[in-house]
Amino acid sequence: MKILVINAGSSSIKYQLFEMPGSTVVAKGMVERIGEPKSRLICVFDGKTHTSEQSIPDHEDAMDLILNTLVSKNLGILHNIAEITAVGHRVVHGGEEFTGSVLIDDRVIASIEKFADLAPLHNPPNLTGIRASIHKLPTAKQIACFDTAFHTTIPQVAYLYGLPYEIYEKYRVRRYGFHGTSHRYVSRRAAVLLAHPTDRVNLVTCHLGNGCSITAVKNGKSIDTSMGLTPLEGVVMGTRTGDLDPAILFYLADKGYSIDELNAMCNKKGGLLGISGKSNDMRNLTELAEKGDKRAQLAIDIFCYRIKKYVGAYAAVLGRLDAIVFTGGIGENCPHIRAGVCSELDAIGAILNPAKNAAKLAKEDDIQADTSRVKIFVIATNEEAAIAEDTYLLSK
Ligand code: ADP
Repeated sequence: MKILVINAGSSSIKYQLFEMPGSTVVAKGMVERIGEPKSRLICVFDGKTHTSEQSIPDHEDAMDLILNTLVSKNLGILHNIAEITAVGHRVVHGGEEFTGSVLIDDRVIASIEKFADLAPLHNPPNLTGIRASIHKLPTAKQIACFDTAFHTTIPQVAYLYGLPYEIYEKYRVRRYGFHGTSHRYVSRRAAVLLAHPTDRVNLVTCHLGNGCSITAVKNGKSIDTSMGLTPLEGVVMGTRTGDLDPAILFYLADKGYSIDELNAMCNKKGGLLGISGKSNDMRNLTELAEKGDKRAQLAIDIFCYRIKKYVGAYAAVLGRLDAIVFTGGIGENCPHIRAGVCSELDAIGAILNPAKNAAKLAKEDDIQADTSRVKIFVIATNEEAAIAEDTYLLSK
């Protein structure tokens, strides 16, 4: 059974075609720069990367191009588009309504539209991808997998802010959390590595990519997470500030900054980019710091410090901690960041093995010292495989 996984962003659509069961990737790629004069299609199939450039005005055309590529005689990936039994869509915000993945119908579409109010940059392109997919593949089942779903188990004590209660009642202002598919995926894998049932493991999972979030997982369920109403809250990220004293915004508004300027400052110009003044990318910052750039080093130090604070806080919330998990582009590839986060964590029973941490790692590896009570894992995330699995289960 062939399942297509779609991750539609504002100017790109990423796709992966899976053979299920078994989650074998048949082909994958993306269409990027949708709406620009030179859009690009990438398709990786049979160990080769195929690239083409053309004008792709919108998501509907991008879906057309992806499907035409999948059935092109040239590549020979599929004979017929009808071989795709189901499509799994990544959807960022499912509000309080969606506690798991669902078959898409008119009611689900209306809800995703409603939650666009909470995720204006993400839900609208996700929906555009869904609509294009329904149009192009009318016989395939369409499934939505929400980034927020894994976090719907967070109790009220952790999701409510210290605002007047009616703000929650009126506007549903609360912590929702994101990256749920990734936190769920690595939690399940960590349970396998620990040889414990999923519903028995206590973890702190650190998803460190361009966006970063830390989650406390108790008995396999998310009980707290660092991102909030939006992905802005929590640790310092590539371009996002993470936690701030909210009064800073009132203070700067008084100095003449507009809401739009403050929004851009916090979401696009803050974080690693804002502190270093040079880059939001950890690879660049690491190189700069090695050459003696003090602000790049400061950005890296603040990044690690903030993550360590969350790990400590969540260890306290969990009571018993079985493992810390690192994932995402930075979590999987940057030993110096893992070392920075784990330095002096022996107070919570976590001790890194520096040699293991610095070695070339497999997709799933442990990097703790023999004397460490808490395991420390590096697990490559695979959100697409998790979406394919959900899609398969719901479309059988
Ligand atoms: P996204 O959140 O957009 O999915 P990623 O998970 O790919 O992003 O993470 C992007 C971050 O990971 C960047 O800061 C990048 O520098 C870092 N990164 C990705 N791959 C590597 C690598 N091989 N070595 C060092 N850093 C990496």
